[in-house]
Amino acid sequence: MSFVIKGDTGDWEIVCGLEVHAQVISRAKLFSGASTAFGAEPNSQVSPVDAGMPGMLPVINAFCIEQAVRTGLGLRAEINRFSVFERKNYFYPDLPNGYQISQYQHPLVGRGELLIDLPDGRTKAIGITRLHLEMDAGKSLHDQLPDRTLIDLNRSGVALMEIVSEPDIRSPEEAVAYMRKLRSILRYLGTCDGNMEEGSLRCDANVSVRRVGSREFGTRCEIKNVNSMRFVAKAIEYEARRQVEILEAGGVIEQETRLFDSGRGVTRSMRSKEEAHDYRYFPDPDLLPLELEEAFVARIRESLPELPDEKKERFIREFGLTPYDAGVLVAERATADYFEEVAAGRDAKQAANWVITELFGALNRAGKGIEECPIRPHQLGRLIDLLNEKVLSGRLAKDVFAIMFETGEDPERIVEERGLRQVTDTSAIEPIVEKVIADNPGQVETYRKNPKVIGWFVGQVMKATRGKANPQMVQELLKKRLEG
Ligand code: ADP
Ligand code: MG
Repeated sequence: MSFVIKGDTGDWEIVCGLEVHAQVISRAKLFSGASTAFGAEPNSQVSPVDAGMPGMLPVINAFCIEQAVRTGLGLRAEINRFSVFERKNYFYPDLPNGYQISQYQHPLVGRGELLIDLPDGRTKAIGITRLHLEMDAGKSLHDQLPDRTLIDLNRSGVALMEIVSEPDIRSPEEAVAYMRKLRSILRYLGTCDGNMEEGSLRCDANVSVRRVGSREFGTRCEIKNVNSMRFVAKAIEYEARRQVEILEAGGVIEQETRLFDSGRGVTRSMRSKEEAHDYRYFPDPDLLPLELEEAFVARIRESLPELPDEKKERFIREFGLTPYDAGVLVAERATADYFEEVAAGRDAKQAANWVITELFGALNRAGKGIEECPIRPHQLGRLIDLLNEKVLSGRLAKDVFAIMFETGEDPERIVEERGLRQVTDTSAIEPIVEKVIADNPGQVETYRKNPKVIGWFVGQVMKATRGKANPQMVQELLKKRLEG
């Protein structure tokens, strides 16, 4: 998937690395027992530690460590059995301590790898540089009072994983594929819910450009606040084009932090390199270095679920699905489980088709997720059986499917109550065939010159039976009659 930006003096390519903040799924915060539930009354979930009260001591939440290790293992990364929490010092009104506790020199997780799925079915490995744990800050509310900013500290101290990628991304689409895959893995692992609207997954994009063929990296800009999948692509593309324009005009790129303005679809300067913070990192004297026992890591490793890449491989191998179909089905654990239940004991390709085309189509149109799906997997399976048993034609099966989606009823019941059973009884179809032929002598003439017209006759008979006749049977009867 090559993405080239054409300039007057030549072609340019994008170099991009992402820094993702993922909120850890945990009932309590990273260094206090306060709740992390979303949407609570402002400042109702704040312990003295989260409020930065003097003399309060942070205590590491072992479950958050476990979650970060689980994520590291899911990213096939090195787990550092020795890591250190450091203070990152800066002033901000929603940071009561005057520092954020983060990891710097010794992160919990080192190098790993994430496979992204490209549209043509191939995959590409994007390097993971590191994953470290840190605490979130509070939130400044600027829109509650006309002349004041309010501070909500509910989020203060919530555990975040910062996941940093290598600059291996080469296009906006690859960046989106990376975000999607990362989100999918986090959700499989149960370590982050991946909800970008609620801010549980936030992305900063580092973007530079270079001439196609060049091996050196250009100067990068870091774009903050890219908070939906769509914006990830937009922000990167806008920023890359902006840089190409400057370079083509003989200018140079200043390393800076920029903000994505989603309303206008542009990035604008936030602060230059000169204004960059000196965070004065140093090990937090209130926290000992974190040392993990081998057995702790081993236990987590053993409890890992089958992850999307492995599941995809298995679906291709076991069910003979195309890489594309397998990729679509495994993106969410719930859809993969749904599919497997439908496919059990049936033709898996047929099951995949029904799930991807009909079911996902209907869910999309209804704006529903798989959790709210009105059709249970065994019901969809039974519908496919009715089709294969020739109780239903393809056309009737789609009608029954639509009713199932509407009502949640069993397919057998719908077929019985609404009389939707396919007519395969020749004696019921023959008189209709006779009548259609008798009523249309002109078309019979045309058929002699052009046998394709049989399709028109089939259509007429199907219409007369309100779609219930078996189409193959109709075709055969028509042929016999028209040629006989
Ligand atoms: P910082 O500490 O300033 O954030 P890092 O070394 O942690 O710097 O890099 C941050 C991100 O920037 C990483 O995701 C990395 O892949 C990416 N990156 C580094 N150099 C470049 C570059 N020249 N162009 C694009 N992205 C880059
Ligand atoms: Mg960084």
